[in-house]
Amino acid sequence: MVCAGKVCTLVGDWHSHPDGEPVPSSIDADTWRKMSKNQSRNMVGAIFGREGVSLFWQGKDSAGHKPMRVTYEDDNLIIWELFREDEPTSTFALQNTIPPHQAF
Ligand SMILES: [Zn+2]
Repeated sequence: MVCAGKVCTLVGDWHSHPDGEPVPSSIDADTWRKMSKNQSRNMVGAIFGREGVSLFWQGKDSAGHKPMRVTYEDDNLIIWELFREDEPTSTFALQNTIPPHQAF
């Protein structure tokens, strides 16, 4: 949720696959498709697996996922493309949320 004042908007979610690869299951794909339709917006999220993380996106007419590498520093989740080690792709502030390593 992204909250500004008292207005909160669901932009996506994340969960873990503690015993497997971070590849979306058919149940995951169905859930995100329904979530995107119900929210009438594109959704983003992440699956944390034992060896890494996969980012997903769900749009009105398209969806996909991409394996990524993450590091976690100072309450920020740093997202790296697997083949670009020189600079992070994105940085997400995770303050007031459960750190990824506690999800397992
Ligand atoms: Zn899943």
